[in-house]
Amino acid sequence: MKHELRCVESDFCNEISGQEDTTFSAIYEGNPPGRVLWESGNFRLLADMSPLCPGHLLLLPIEHHLSFADLIETHGETLSGILSTVIPMYRETFGRLTFLEHGSSLAMKSGACISHAHWHLLPVDGRGVDALITADGLPSNLLEHLGQLATFSGKPYFLCGHEGEFRVYNGERPMRSQYLRSVVGRILGIPDPLWDYALVVRKEILRETMDRASHWRTPLADAG
Ligand SMILES: [Zn+2]
Ligand SMILES: [Zn+2]
Repeated sequence: MKHELRCVESDFCNEISGQEDTTFSAIYEGNPPGRVLWESGNFRLLADMSPLCPGHLLLLPIEHHLSFADLIETHGETLSGILSTVIPMYRETFGRLTFLEHGSSLAMKSGACISHAHWHLLPVDGRGVDALITADGLPSNLLEHLGQLATFSGKPYFLCGHEGEFRVYNGERPMRSQYLRSVVGRILGIPDPLWDYALVVRKEILRETMDRASHWRTPLADAG
């Protein structure tokens, strides 16, 4: 199991392009058959394959980018439009909403895993996330607007967004792997290291998440 999930986040391109033999299908064996909840333009909203709690989703671009900082210049307007739909829809279904991203850089590509940009959506208190990251000593900047994220293109960073504000933490210092999952694990009271996506795959929670969001309609589905 650990081996199967090792490169879980590099599998997005295959999965998004409709390839059937994916890590997701190997683990979930058709129940459910897919994990896309909503789509619009260049972005998709998926359930996290190894969710930390109900409502743990991923927002990602269909094109391959290393981080949201890399795509914000070209897709920023689309993204703003998507957020104005997704935020109220998410809050109605799952309560509060915090966005998290570990923005990767080319320097981090040296390993076998190439990251496909994604934001985590979690129904946790973002102020708590900010407090824990700040307590770990990472310097940060509050963005005046999301477009400023472009200045972090090519650099490693951690992003935390909630209540319309986005804070970017310097990610130069090596942190434990899956650092943001470990922070959310602390907030949710998940014992260390059971937030590791390869150690525990909470399949029932993914299924509950898919069920609770099943009434979401994608613009494409409405058009069809
Ligand atoms: Zn990709
Ligand atoms: Zn991630």
